[in-house]
Amino acid sequence: MPTLTAEEVAAAGALAAVFQRGQRVCLTTHVNPDGDGLGSEAALAHLLRARGLDVSITNPTPTPQRFRFLFEELPGADRTHEAIKELRRADVIVVLDISELSRLGMLAGVVGDRGVPVACIDHHVSQGALPPGPRYVDPTASATGELVFEIAKANGWKLEQPAARGLYVALLTDTGGFRFSNTHPRTLRIAAELLETGLDPEAIYLDVYARAPEGRPRLLGEALQTLVVEPDIGLAWVTIPPGAVERLGLTSDDLDGVVEYPRSVEGVRMALLFREVAAGRVKVSLRSVGNVDVAAFAKEFGGGGHTKASGLSVVGSLAEVQAAVLSAARRYLGGNGRGDRGHIADSGARN
Ligand code: 5GP
Ligand code: MN
Repeated sequence: MPTLTAEEVAAAGALAAVFQRGQRVCLTTHVNPDGDGLGSEAALAHLLRARGLDVSITNPTPTPQRFRFLFEELPGADRTHEAIKELRRADVIVVLDISELSRLGMLAGVVGDRGVPVACIDHHVSQGALPPGPRYVDPTASATGELVFEIAKANGWKLEQPAARGLYVALLTDTGGFRFSNTHPRTLRIAAELLETGLDPEAIYLDVYARAPEGRPRLLGEALQTLVVEPDIGLAWVTIPPGAVERLGLTSDDLDGVVEYPRSVEGVRMALLFREVAAGRVKVSLRSVGNVDVAAFAKEFGGGGHTKASGLSVVGSLAEVQAAVLSAARRYLGGNGRGDRGHIADSGARN
């Protein structure tokens, strides 16, 4: 793997120093956790258990079915169903794959008030506030899993196969299967080292992508029927029909990847997916092609993420939010599409 800078080694050391044998550690990530957040948690849980810590995973929303295999070798570790209780007993909290309290949903209050060190490992460009604690944040990393790998290496922590599996899932999912622009040479070097522990990439692929409930492709079918393309400005979007996720017995996780379809149309520079998540709240996923910065765009609506993959969630009816966001998107694409940053977007990291 590429050599770490002196600064990275120091940051990894400071992070490791917060973990004392015998302590209780809670690992947490964003609402609707994804493969990077969960894979990084699984890996860190293995690494810290091996160092004599009592580790639990306490997320704001449940682990999607497709990622439960990550915790099979961590019996009792996923305490998401009693996250608040666990967080109240923690000596240290580690926030993964986000840098802002608000993305912790209903856990924001307890994490914000505990008064114990809150470590953070993240690769998002949008920085927010978290309580004090060591930071290992690098927006050039393809995935948070890449950073957990570096922390392990810098501290001489041995990566056994179960931890390597978590990190491989993190890299695989956040790079869209090693396809997106965040697939750096460094990413593939780390993936290679992970495979060298004897992982079976096809078994992992099947677990993550090929054990879907029947409703998932059916939902995709319904979503694609709604595709609208505005070729002149390079805008395209799909809308999840209200109630479809529930009707098909699915969860938000089953929408992963749907926004890649509007993004796949020739000439599209900005793709969106709209979904009513609760009565009166709409979530929008944004993806870009080329130099359009969708993190800067999402920020205008209180969202954030990466240059080429971002999200936002606003109060309003589906029709109202769609009208407001689309008209802002048309204006944005009519301008330079680069927010107020004024330079060509260069980071394609997602999630
Ligand atoms: P997705 O569209 O796949 O849910 O998320 C894409 C990226 O945008 C991820 O990096 C995610 O963390 C970020 N993101 C999604 N929704 C929100 C949001 O409501 N607020 C912020 N700040 N970031 C979001
Ligand atoms: Mn991520």
